[in-house]
Amino acid sequence: MNLAKFPRVRLAHLATPLELMPRLTEHLGGPEIWIKRDDCTGLSTGGNKTRKLEFLMAEAQAQGADMVMTQGATQSNHARQTAAAAAKLGMDCHILLEDRTGYNHENYKYSGNVLLDHLHGATMEHRGPDLDMNAEMEAVADKFRAEGRNVYTIPGGGSNATGALGYVNCAFEMMNQFVTMGLNVDHIVHATGSAGTQAGLITGLKAMNAGIPLLGIGVRAPKPKQEENVYNLAVKTAEKLGCPGVVAREDVMANTDYVGPGYGMPGDDTLEAIDIFARTEAILLDPVYSAKGGAGLIDLIRKGHFKKGERIVFLHTGGAIGLTGYTHCFDVPK
Ligand SMILES: *Cc1c(COP(=O)(O)O)cnc(C)c1O
Repeated sequence: MNLAKFPRVRLAHLATPLELMPRLTEHLGGPEIWIKRDDCTGLSTGGNKTRKLEFLMAEAQAQGADMVMTQGATQSNHARQTAAAAAKLGMDCHILLEDRTGYNHENYKYSGNVLLDHLHGATMEHRGPDLDMNAEMEAVADKFRAEGRNVYTIPGGGSNATGALGYVNCAFEMMNQFVTMGLNVDHIVHATGSAGTQAGLITGLKAMNAGIPLLGIGVRAPKPKQEENVYNLAVKTAEKLGCPGVVAREDVMANTDYVGPGYGMPGDDTLEAIDIFARTEAILLDPVYSAKGGAGLIDLIRKGHFKKGERIVFLHTGGAIGLTGYTHCFDVPK
């Protein structure tokens, strides 16, 4: 397989750092915990969507697009990174934001990612919950096309086979770091949502025959649905890469016990994970994704699922700018 044959535009600061978290390791008293800092990809406060956008935006450019469109929840990190990539590459960006939480707080609606969308010059429309958002987006895109615009649409989370190539690339990058640093890693853990991150990672890991299990901690869908989404996308990604069949169904593992009240709504364990990471390692997790991943990691260590003597890599997928949209969840003394 040859990742270099796909068009790619450089947007991320790579390789992202891979660091030991000694105080978190000590605090939890279980396995040695490392962190892969994809919160430090650089573009407009970073995050995992930037790796996907390197391949997606290159495809948009190749198709001569003058406008990109995408969709996501109000505090979508993906929408913000897409708006930033479009600004950097001189394209217009239009985004559809879905109200998935019903939150009415000012900061939720106008701060965090929404503020950055605006600063990058993106235009926005809003939608209520429970619509087919990709279909809504295509309908709006067709209106722009009728006006003569060349619109490239990106699915929610940038999760198609093109976007997933960004996480095939991350799998290669991590393996290279593990080998260079002499780290024998037992598990990789990360938050999984629209499936592109996990699908790309598992495809890359399996294509290298890395032998390292990957666990996605779900943020929305129940386990069977989440695993099916990841598996289906991994199959397409492997085909695109020219290595069909490298991913087996049982390679795709998701744990969806940490979704809490629902997508975009933190539970007590989500907030505890934010607190623990911030106080032990000065790492900022976000309430929608990475802190649910962190909550899963913490609980699975407390339960003895991950044990002393093992080495875990937690992939930090970013999103901390969203904290400023969630101030209503924290008791800051007045
Ligand atoms: C989108 C996102 C994820 C989930 O990645 P998917 O590829 O959508 O599964 C995890 N963490 C953060 C911060 C995200 O923005």
